[in-house]
Order: sequence, then structure tokens, then C-alpha cells
Amino acid sequence: MIGDARLDRVVDMERFVLPLATLFPAAEAAALEADRHWLEPAFMRGDEIALSMHSVVLRVDGKVILVDTCVGEHKPRPRQVPWNDRSHTSYLARLATLGLAPEDVDIVFCTHLHADHVGWNTRLVDGRWVPTFPRARYLLGRGELAYWQSQVRCDPAANHGSYTDSVLPVIEAGQVDLVDADHELLRGLTVRPLPGHSPGQVGITLDRRGSHGLLCGDAIHHPVQLVRPDWSSRFCSDGSQAHATRRLLLEEVAERGAWLVPAHFMGLTGMRIRRTRDGFRPRDEAARPGGA
Ligand SMILES: [Zn+2]
Repeated sequence: MIGDARLDRVVDMERFVLPLATLFPAAEAAALEADRHWLEPAFMRGDEIALSMHSVVLRVDGKVILVDTCVGEHKPRPRQVPWNDRSHTSYLARLATLGLAPEDVDIVFCTHLHADHVGWNTRLVDGRWVPTFPRARYLLGRGELAYWQSQVRCDPAANHGSYTDSVLPVIEAGQVDLVDADHELLRGLTVRPLPGHSPGQVGITLDRRGSHGLLCGDAIHHPVQLVRPDWSSRFCSDGSQAHATRRLLLEEVAERGAWLVPAHFMGLTGMRIRRTRDGFRPRDEAARPGGA
């Protein structure tokens, strides 16, 4: 709970493992030695880091808001084998364990339009991509959508082809609303620009009953970036802008005692952090998730 808002995770892929240097080209494992005791085994093992692919369901004021829609099923992603043509995932069953059917979702909010954040926007029915959430308004950042539309005009296969199978069908169904900075979704839920990982990434600032959170998409991918906020991912469109965005949001989250709610932290919906002499750390290092 953040104030009177309830947050739950819906996991699409439990554990997506990458070598540290594959995700963070600037990383040196030696910089993490003093932090292994809380990073291992949940968040990393040796030089491999683990990411979770999950949505966050936000329930507040009687509304159901699904933030980011992961990888999805049946999507052709030959350049990223673990994401390619998945089937029999438990994503919708996990949503059901929260008491939610697809038609209960009022708003789908995509922080950005990378293939691992739009997958469940659509599903394959009789050979056609249709919106998975039939009643939902899909909220997309105006600048983010414009950017990917310009990319796709040059290269239809850009971004693993995810615009065509996971974004265009919800536009054609008339279910998309574009949002700008400072747009208020509901009282205390405000759109926040987080550029750098992608040009138009947006998050949600949550302020309810004196408690605060920041749903921040991929502004931070992994807890090693608390230790080294300057490590931007290989997939960031502008690594130095991503670093500046990340540092600012980490400072703000630490100072306000807010919950950091990223898209890929293993086993956690949110984390509270504290500032240290050389960066940031979890406020409670013992509150890390178990191995598994
Ligand atoms: Zn991502």
C-alpha cells in the first residue's frame, strides 16, 4: 500500500538473466564487491544479473491501472530468443489471482514502448492482434509514440517489430489516449517525464494520504544502479541523459522516503532507499527477496 493505493505485481517472466556487462557496458564487477551481501543471490549471482518482467497493478479510487505489459505471448522476437513466440504463460492467470479479469482493467499505462513493456497490450485471436484489455484506455506518452512512429517509418522491424503487433492494434481500436508531462490520471497520480532510457519515457508520481511512490519504468533497471547510478543500460537511447534522470529521481525518492517502483527488480514491487556517501542503497538491505 502507498497511502490508500494498493500495488501488486503480475509477473510475466520470473527470471531473465543477463551477463552484467551485456546490460551495462560500463560496469566493472569489482565495483560491487562491498555490496554482494545484499545483491546476492536474489539480484545477481557472480557476473550474471537477474531481472523480472512484471506489470504493476495499481488499485485506487475504484480504478484498476495496469502499468507496463511485459513481453506477451506469440510475439515474433527472433532477435531475443527468451521472448520469442511464447505460449502457455501464466500472466492472465496471475492477474486472475488478484481477482481481476482483462475487462476489469480501466487504464493501461505504458511507461515507454520497448518490446518488454507493450507485449500484453494485445493478444492473438483468430490470427489477428486484438487489445487484451477490451474496456481499457491505453495511455501512451505523446513524445514516446511520435518517436517510435518516426523510427518505424524508416524501419518497420525497429524495436523487434513491437509497434506493429502491440501498439498499432490498440490505436486502430480507438483505445489510445496520449499524455503529456503533469497530466493527472487521478487525484495524486501525475505523469512524470523520465527521458533517457527512451526519448519519451514517462512515469507516474503517486502521492496519496502523505505517502509517496514513483513508478519509474526503466529509469532504473537493476539494484546495481543504486550503487552505480552512472551505469546506463546498453538499451538506453541516451545514456548520459538516462544517468541524469536516474540520479535526480533517486535523490528525490530517498529524500521523500518514497517507494521506488521499477519495472524489473526481482521479487519486489517497490523498494525504499537511502542516500550513502557514494550513491544509494536499500533502506533495509535485509528486506531483499529470497533466492529462487
Ligand atoms: Zn524494460
